[in-house]
Amino acid sequence: MLLLTVVYNSSVECIINEIKDIKKCFEHKRMILGIAESIIEDTHFIKFFCSDDNLSDSSIKAFNLNIANMLYKIVIMEFCKKEMNNFLTETYFFLRYDEIKQIKPKIQVALLGEGEISGPNMVYCINRKNNIIDKITKCIEENNEINISGFLTFRTKELKMDLECIVDKVVEEYMVEKEYNEFIKLLKYFVEIQESKVGEVNILIEKNGDYYLRDEEGNDLAGDMLMELPKVKFDSKENTEEIIISTMITSAPKKVIIHCAENCKNKELLQTISKVFVDRVYYCDECTECEKIKNGINIW
Ligand SMILES: [Zn+2]
Repeated sequence: MLLLTVVYNSSVECIINEIKDIKKCFEHKRMILGIAESIIEDTHFIKFFCSDDNLSDSSIKAFNLNIANMLYKIVIMEFCKKEMNNFLTETYFFLRYDEIKQIKPKIQVALLGEGEISGPNMVYCINRKNNIIDKITKCIEENNEINISGFLTFRTKELKMDLECIVDKVVEEYMVEKEYNEFIKLLKYFVEIQESKVGEVNILIEKNGDYYLRDEEGNDLAGDMLMELPKVKFDSKENTEEIIISTMITSAPKKVIIHCAENCKNKELLQTISKVFVDRVYYCDECTECEKIKNGINIW
């Protein structure tokens, strides 16, 4: 039975490798896919066949999905080649040339959805990609012949919005990262130009994630500041973290020791501290205070 005819011209030669991959993929599933190609002038016609006893709803679904993935890749390549530059320079005109250069490979990874799932942004991109693939699959189900050039001309417009949403997400993530790095640079600069007001700051983290800030003699450093805050704010962990950072920046300690780091509920805070204080940071999980924390003894 004829499953599908794909029509393309030599401008999308990469399709040959994709088709080989699809064939291999079906061989793994013990399903033989017959492929016949004919060429008329510049136009290639590829017909996909399958024997009737191989044919089930699930194998047709799998075939359509494979073809949809192939078309998706072609759409992405076209988009990256033709549309992406314009979209970036028009929408994100404030980005410098070297920034755009840094962002482009990130966009490509996000569009292909092949990066590791590192956070909500990647999940967002993968969801968008799946949306597009669903649309392409529907289109394949409704047609028994797909002309790639025609598909690109008529469907890319429809898919463009989804693709641009992915680009937006990547740029957004890049901007947040950039702002964060600039913030770190500024804090680092403050710490470096300041004279140390304390030799050592100990950050003790209790099992429930609460923090204590002490100097080398065990004096509480953040307590006074915490008391000055109105009661409502006092409860908020975010505020405590802000106070920790600002206390550390103003006291510019020569040495920062983080005790029981594994108890920390906000790894970003520790990351920020280690980025700002770099080689002044030490980790400890074996002093008497750490033992107290581990054994649930009150350190307050
Ligand atoms: Zn310790």
